[in-house]
Amino acid sequence: MIRDFFIGFIKIHILYHASENAICGIEMIKELKRHGYPIGPGTIYPTLHSLEIRGYLKSKEVVINGKRRKYYEITGKGFKMLEKSKEKIGELVEEVL
Ligand SMILES: [Zn+2]
Repeated sequence: MIRDFFIGFIKIHILYHASENAICGIEMIKELKRHGYPIGPGTIYPTLHSLEIRGYLKSKEVVINGKRRKYYEITGKGFKMLEKSKEKIGELVEEVL
């Protein structure tokens, strides 16, 4: 339930961080935990994958210390969605708070 409710915020948060730097799943798990969202690999990886399928993120494989890791960058489409989401969040915050 909590996950269903916050998944939109989590997606926007992922897009935001991907717009700053390329991100990987494990880093996003730590980052979301810092913000108080206890999201595990079972949620983060499918979410990253679906954002890529929809064209908001683009992945590339990077080898770090012999381990292959998938890093995600924001796409032009993702950036537009992020900008739109910011407007929506602003409007919502104004009403709710
Ligand atoms: Zn953050």
